[in-house]
Amino acid sequence: MPNILVTGGAGYIGSHVVRDLAEHGFCPVILDNLSEGHREACPGMTLVEASIADPAALATVFTRHRIEAVMHFSAFAYVGESVTDPAKYYQNNVGATLTLLEAMRQHGVRTFLFSSSCATYGNPVYTPIDEAHPQNPVNPYGRTKLMVEQILEDYRRAYGVRYIALRYFNAAGAHPDGTIGESHRIETHLIPLVLQAIKGTRPSVSLFGTDYDTPDGTCVRDYIHVCDLARAHRAALELLLNGGEPACINLGVEQGHSVREIIALCEEVAGKKAPVIEAERRPGDPPSLVAKAAKAKKVLSFMPDYTDMREIIKTAWQWENKRRY
Ligand code: UDP
Repeated sequence: MPNILVTGGAGYIGSHVVRDLAEHGFCPVILDNLSEGHREACPGMTLVEASIADPAALATVFTRHRIEAVMHFSAFAYVGESVTDPAKYYQNNVGATLTLLEAMRQHGVRTFLFSSSCATYGNPVYTPIDEAHPQNPVNPYGRTKLMVEQILEDYRRAYGVRYIALRYFNAAGAHPDGTIGESHRIETHLIPLVLQAIKGTRPSVSLFGTDYDTPDGTCVRDYIHVCDLARAHRAALELLLNGGEPACINLGVEQGHSVREIIALCEEVAGKKAPVIEAERRPGDPPSLVAKAAKAKKVLSFMPDYTDMREIIKTAWQWENKRRY
């Protein structure tokens, strides 16, 4: 079975990818310093507890395991924090990624799957957003993701690195078997916050901005189920391992849902009202981010299984009620 190094494999998206890989004939080797990840998210898996910024730890992993490809998820991802503490973001998301790429170079590993983001596009100049849309990120987080995409392109030309950068829209939901899901040090994402407010584990949820130029005045986002993201990663990995071309590919459902719609659907799924406080806009939020996902279909033969937002929220609600970590 091919060994795949998964950095950040104990985190939210990484743990779903690891599960999917293990179920489909790959042998994931997780490298995670557990700053955001959880040991409980990857039971029975090989987990090396170390940072990607540690060249000695990387050398040990590449020497011990014959790594065929690297899937890179370990990155800080709080947009607000990236504005107040950009050094942390550039050092980790860019600097430590260079350390990882260097270790790959030294050990002759050239296949790289990168967890990129629709945050690399910045404020949309047209919608839906395809991969040719201009990339002008509006916060340091988005800039770190764009920088790594640019580094990968340079490394492809110079060193023959074969990469696919997957630009996710909004990851949502949890594994339907209820064993893994979203659990962040600081929760900032809409769906878990609304569900926690409904459940009473937090007093209320703020609705950031009601005066956007959108149909109901609240921001519109494209939510893709985390298990669909995992499948798309495996498709991209298989493509590269079979000689496919490097690419940047959007992952979204091509459906926009407003914040008010999401709150209403959460209330419907949970059967209870959410205590909502209408608040000011959150700085850096574009009014609407909806993917054009034709390239994922064409290049990866990937189509999301979860196209009904209610079903995505149901898996998140199940996780919220039975979360293990
Ligand atoms: N949002 C909100 N209240 C919250 C968290 C988020 O109104 O407590 C809004 C946010 O302004 C955005 C949408 O919900 O328009 C999705 O935000 P999230 O942080 O989940 O994902 P992002 O789009 O920032 O990646």
